[in-house]
Amino acid sequence: MERILITGAGGQLGSELTSALADKYGAEAIVATDINENVSDKFRYCTFEVLDVLDASRMESLIERYKITQVYHLAAILSAVGEKNPLFTWKLNMDSLLNVLELGKAGKINTIYWPSSIAVFGKNTPADNTPQDCVMDPATVYGISKLAGERWCSYYFEKYGVDVRSLRYPGLIGYKSAAGGGTTDYAVDIFRAAIEGEEFECFLDKDMYLPMMYMSDAIKATLDLMEAPKEDISIRSSYNVAAISFSPKDIYQELLKYYPDFKISYNPDFRQEIAASWPDSIDDTRARLDWDWQHEYDLAKMAKDILSHLKPKNK
Ligand code: NAD
Repeated sequence: MERILITGAGGQLGSELTSALADKYGAEAIVATDINENVSDKFRYCTFEVLDVLDASRMESLIERYKITQVYHLAAILSAVGEKNPLFTWKLNMDSLLNVLELGKAGKINTIYWPSSIAVFGKNTPADNTPQDCVMDPATVYGISKLAGERWCSYYFEKYGVDVRSLRYPGLIGYKSAAGGGTTDYAVDIFRAAIEGEEFECFLDKDMYLPMMYMSDAIKATLDLMEAPKEDISIRSSYNVAAISFSPKDIYQELLKYYPDFKISYNPDFRQEIAASWPDSIDDTRARLDWDWQHEYDLAKMAKDILSHLKPKNK
C-alpha cells in the first residue's frame, strides 16, 4: 500500500494535489506537510505535520514514522519572489531536492515526484512550440534552480536507480488558493477582480503569450505520470507538458463575455521581463507518446468552470 508525504502542501498546487491524492489513495495514506502551520486547517481530512524541507533529519524521521513510500516534493520559492532573495532561493530549492533524492538513494522511499517549470527556458530558447530538448539559458534564479534540479533528478536515476519523475508545468491556474508569487499569477488574480467588479491592473503586457494550464489538468498530468509503468518513462529530467497558451488580452476578452463592464489596465513590472524570456507555447509530444497525456481544458472551458465556482466575498 502506498503512503504519501507531500511537502509545501499548503500552497497553490499542494492544496489541490493533496486532496486529489487523498481521493485516490485514501485520506489515511496521506501526510500533508508545510513549514507554515497556519495551513493545517486545510488538512483536517488527513494527517498534517509541520516540516521545513531544509530539515533533512525531521523529513527522514517523518518518513520512517509514517512508513512513507512516495514523496511529492512541492515546496519551493517561485520565480517572482525568488528574484528578491536569489541565494536563499537557490539554497531552498536545491538543498531540499537533494534531501529528498538522498532518501530515495538510501532506499527509504520508492518514488519521488518533483515539479519543474517552463522557467527552465530562456531568451535563446525557440519560443514557439518549444521542444523538449533545446537551448535553455534560464534567466531567473528560480529557473536556474529548476534546470539544475532536473539534472540532479536525471543523475540520481542514472547513477542510483532512484524512481524520480517530473513535469515542467506551465503557469497553473486554479481558483481554490491564492497564487504563490510566480510570473503567471495575473491569470489567477484576474478572475477574483472580475467577480468582485474591480478594475484589474495587469503586471504583464497585453500581448504577452505564455503557456498555461488549468489546475485540474495539472493534477491529471501529475497522477497520470506517477501511475505510468516505470519502463514507459523515457525522460528522467522533466517532461514538457502543455495545455493552453494565451495572453492577458485573450483572458480579458474571455471574461468580458461574462462581465461586460470589466476593466483592465496594463502596468508591466519586472515580471514582464521574466515572462518575455519564457516560451509562448510548448511541444509536449513526448508526454503524449509515453504516457498518453491529454489536456481537457481550453481557455473558454476553464473560464466557465472557474466562474461557476467563484463567488464574490460579500455574497
Ligand atoms: P506556493 O508558493 O503556492 O506554495 C509553496 C508552499 O511551500 C507554501 O505553502 C509554503 O509555505 C511552502 N514552503 C515554503 N518554504 C518551505 C520550507 N522551507 N519547507 C516547507 N514548506 C515550505 O507554490 P505552488 O504554486 O503551489 O508551487 C508548488 C510547486 O510547483 C513548486 O515546486 C513550483 O516551483 C512548482 N510550479 C508551480 C507553478 C505555478 O504556476 N504555480 C508552475 C510551475 C511549477
